[in-house]
Amino acid sequence: MLKISRLFLYDEPSVPQIRIQNLAEFIKKQTGIDVEVRQCFFKYFGKKEKTLHDLASCRVFNPYVPFEKHSPTAEEVAFEEQDSASNIVLYDGFELQNIFMDCIPEEELSQDRFHLIFTTKLCCSYDYDDYRYHGRAVICSNPSIISTTGIIEAPAKPRDYYMKMYEKMSQGLNLDALRNEFSGRFLEYGDDRIGIVVRGYALQAIFYHLTGNPFCESKECMLYNAHWQKDLLHSQISSGKLCRQHQMIRDNI
Ligand SMILES: [Zn+2]
Repeated sequence: MLKISRLFLYDEPSVPQIRIQNLAEFIKKQTGIDVEVRQCFFKYFGKKEKTLHDLASCRVFNPYVPFEKHSPTAEEVAFEEQDSASNIVLYDGFELQNIFMDCIPEEELSQDRFHLIFTTKLCCSYDYDDYRYHGRAVICSNPSIISTTGIIEAPAKPRDYYMKMYEKMSQGLNLDALRNEFSGRFLEYGDDRIGIVVRGYALQAIFYHLTGNPFCESKECMLYNAHWQKDLLHSQISSGKLCRQHQMIRDNI
């Protein structure tokens, strides 16, 4: 198994619910890996004009076609100067990962140095099983990316919620009552539980780097790959631990 001698954790200050210091402590305690917390990735490394252009080029406009490099407008390039935007824009997660990698200096790119980056950008990846892009909470590799927007948008909300939402929207009603009705059953922006859920995604990224396999079949395990918010909250909060098999692997890290 590979070893990680140092893990660099990049904060996303616009989402204080991550509670980056707590997460760093959690990773240290779970894995014994030495963790260094850094500020927001692009604050730390800076954003060159080329980086802005590359970021704008990896936006996804049509979820039904595989990645095609986009020729961004001046406005789209300028948009990338902001650190976190309130409107949701889709980016190809693997292209985004290459851009992050380009910013990291050579001497920090060895395999035993692991970079885990938080972003509000919504990462997605094209899936050839159903020929469309899907939002992702985590893009595993080195660097790995955890998208806070992906945590909220990618795992699905209850089916009932969507049915009622379309009904209300078609009647021109607002969604506040609906949000109250389903309150607590899925993560929302500003949700305090994000700070717990990120632990599981961080472990998935670390397990992927070390073992090539980030996920577990068991819903009781923090490595469970949740497609539903309900399952995410169960595996990360109600359960909140690794299954026995993954505990053993962790003990070998
Ligand atoms: Zn497991």
